Amino acid sequence: MGLEQYKGDMEMCCRCSACKFIPMQKVNGSQFSYACPSISRYNFHSYSGGGRVNIGAAMLKNGFNYTDKLLHIVYNCQMDGACGVSCNYAMDMEVLQPIQEFRIKCVQDGHTHPALDKVIAGLRKTGAMVPAQGKRGDWAAGLDLKDATKEKVDVLYHVGCLTSYDKDYQKLARATAKILQKAGVDFGIAGNTETCCGGRAYQMGYEADFLNQAKKNMAMVKKSGAKTLVTGCADGYQAFKVLYDKYDLKGSLKVLHISEYIDKLIRDGTLKPRKKVNLSVTYHDPCRLGRLGESWVHWTGKKVPGDKFVFDPPKEYRRGTKGVYEPPRDVLRSIPGVKLTEMTRIKEYSWCCGAGGGVNDSNPDFNLWTAKKRIEEAISTGAEAIVTACPWCEKNFNEAIKESGSGLKVYDIVELVEKAL
Ligand code: SF4
Ligand code: SF4
Repeated sequence: MGLEQYKGDMEMCCRCSACKFIPMQKVNGSQFSYACPSISRYNFHSYSGGGRVNIGAAMLKNGFNYTDKLLHIVYNCQMDGACGVSCNYAMDMEVLQPIQEFRIKCVQDGHTHPALDKVIAGLRKTGAMVPAQGKRGDWAAGLDLKDATKEKVDVLYHVGCLTSYDKDYQKLARATAKILQKAGVDFGIAGNTETCCGGRAYQMGYEADFLNQAKKNMAMVKKSGAKTLVTGCADGYQAFKVLYDKYDLKGSLKVLHISEYIDKLIRDGTLKPRKKVNLSVTYHDPCRLGRLGESWVHWTGKKVPGDKFVFDPPKEYRRGTKGVYEPPRDVLRSIPGVKLTEMTRIKEYSWCCGAGGGVNDSNPDFNLWTAKKRIEEAISTGAEAIVTACPWCEKNFNEAIKESGSGLKVYDIVELVEKAL
């Protein structure tokens, strides 16, 4: 049904602009009050969540008119869902879902962005969303890991494109593997056979490519016999846990982010972080581990006759409150010497790192601008380092820091755990 299924939601928008900001109760000052990078940067209503659903409703009514300006609005959105969470603080309506369907429609109608087309062409050729240099499993050399395509494993570690191929971030895969080895977990990797989760293709609007990747991945999972999949990439986490479920492809697979898995291993005494890591940190919630990592809700119901917005049974909205927020924080608190200070925009109100929705490829300048805003917020806490739980965030923050010349350090949570073990 595509965009049409959200007609009622889009028409419900009262143009209050709450989707532009974090809720008033959470605001500490004007500097960190914005929720939406797009409206914050472009300062014109159409760039906000509300503006986007207004456009969707108007186009359903009057026909689709793809102007350059419209496509600039479409491809300058991180698809990070902060708008929906802020809107849903008071309203019951879908915001990100129609924005996502609008993007899928743009792609289906052939109104794509050249930079994103290039990334997708790479995906179709190599199975990766980043330039594929060397082999996907090269990072695992010398670690003696189980090959999940040949042996049965309890846990499949899905590494992800960036962590597999980018020489600067392969350290995250190695740290993760060493932590799991230390804990004695029966896990394996798919090595060179691993392929992209498809999550980033979905955010960019390429639904068919996403589905293709999802089917390949689930066939691989079945072959491995794994009942649990662990990943350190927030995009991968959302894809396997939420998007595959949305499309009824996940089955009974249990999907855990590495921070959840490590938290479990620390709680049951399997892992004991004993070495002191003297560091004051602030934690960045990746959008797709936090508000967008919330389970999909398979609601079926219908509108109450005669009423436009009342459903029977009542519709359950995903408000971002059930994302993965405490496990990474608990892991950080369990590391001796680590002191955690929070930023203003945390958990479901976290500010995006900038890389979502393919913005890192479609508009690198906007991507970096968004990351720099987060770095300013992290610095305002007085912390020495920003810790995150997704390689895309870590990469963006490193680039923002390099350009702004700040001395803030950046870590992924697995790097600190590895130091402490
Ligand atoms: S999307 Fe929601 S918060 Fe934004 S203007 Fe519309 S009703 Fe208000
Ligand atoms: S998805 Fe993110 S960037 Fe796009 S309108 Fe919503 S808050 Fe703004």
